[in-house]
Amino acid sequence: MSALWQDIARAAGVLGEDGRPGATIFAEMTALAQRTGAINLGQGAPGTPADPLVAQAAIEAIQGGVNQYPPVQGNPVLLEAVQVHQQRFYGRQVATEEIVVTTGATEALFSAILALAPAGSEVVVFEPYYDSYAAAAAAAGASVRTVPLDPVGFGFDPAALEAAVSERTSVIVVNDPHNPTGKVFRREELELIVAAAQAHDAWIVTDEVYEHLVFDDLAHVPVATLPGAAERTVTISSAGKTFNVTGWKVGWAIAPAEVRAAIQSIKQYTTFVSAGPFQPAVAAGLAGDDASYAARAESLQHRRDLLLAGLARIPGLRTGVPGAGYFAIADFSEVTDLDARSIIARMAELIGIVAVPVPALCAPGSVVQEQLRGHVRFSFCQSHADMAEAAERLAGLDPSRL
Ligand code: PMP
Ligand code: GLN
Repeated sequence: MSALWQDIARAAGVLGEDGRPGATIFAEMTALAQRTGAINLGQGAPGTPADPLVAQAAIEAIQGGVNQYPPVQGNPVLLEAVQVHQQRFYGRQVATEEIVVTTGATEALFSAILALAPAGSEVVVFEPYYDSYAAAAAAAGASVRTVPLDPVGFGFDPAALEAAVSERTSVIVVNDPHNPTGKVFRREELELIVAAAQAHDAWIVTDEVYEHLVFDDLAHVPVATLPGAAERTVTISSAGKTFNVTGWKVGWAIAPAEVRAAIQSIKQYTTFVSAGPFQPAVAAGLAGDDASYAARAESLQHRRDLLLAGLARIPGLRTGVPGAGYFAIADFSEVTDLDARSIIARMAELIGIVAVPVPALCAPGSVVQEQLRGHVRFSFCQSHADMAEAAERLAGLDPSRL
């Protein structure tokens, strides 16, 4: 019999053959960058400072004595700020009884999946996918069913969705905007997902941590704003990406009140409460003016464009243009026969760049994992100077030396 931690590690693809736990792919690649002195385009950890408004508010909260346990559900100031934020950006009305503050989106995802996926049920995810979904499903004793995203364009076949969702499905996870592809789901795609959830009485758990980092003329449509969706949806987001404070770990879940209470009943025995002084600081950030939101997205879009320009100079490389988020995926399969991990090891040596192998974000042994064998995820959330330097180095990569 395996211990729960082994089930979790196996599901996330990080259980060693010797039965020992491995680090996440993000930690592994960050260690590689540190060891080799490479620019780290692996882990999505911003190289730019915290948003000044939230940073100042956090300093004031600490100095002002907001340092003890906040309420389990969250500081009322933040609950209200999340409520106002939903109304302001999406015209969505939620009650504070429907909101719980969590220790990052990670805790919200874990607790929501534990609360909604009974042992033996199935959790549906779009592949490739962020590592924590499969880990949470395993903790719940549920198994993962995948809907492949097309390697070019990252659409999905409605028939594949229909095949994956059944009466065994407890939860469909929608990560929109999507990590690692940068996909922004189209409204028609979201409608198909809502219809599938309705047809099989499944929950939808959405991970919207990149909701404010959307580029070009694209717009983020929260699943819960679609007709019939809110009553079966848990909407999850966090402050980390929006305000450049990934280390603060302040997130939230919005769900019908009884599901919010179920999520909170798990939270109260895992983390109990989430960081006291950062909660009013995030509330201040959420209330920031439109220009502050636009400036952060523009800055990131500019760095995306630097990265894409660098990658475009590698002959034969095919790179998807991300509509949102921190990451772009490049397909090296026309450039080399090496797999993504080996490509990254060689890039670290040749040009001092580290990234993330996309197969590590796939179901172990899946068809998609094989299709994406030569796909590499590059982050563009490093500082402007680092992104400019990284783009130069990538442009100088001689593919024949890989
Ligand atoms: N979901 C996705 C898709 C992510 O990329 C990340 C980020 N790192 C998280 C969740 C985790 O968010 P948090 O740091 O708020 O727990
Ligand atoms: N979300 C970040 C990424 O995808 C990293 C988070 C982590 O290290 N777990 O790179």
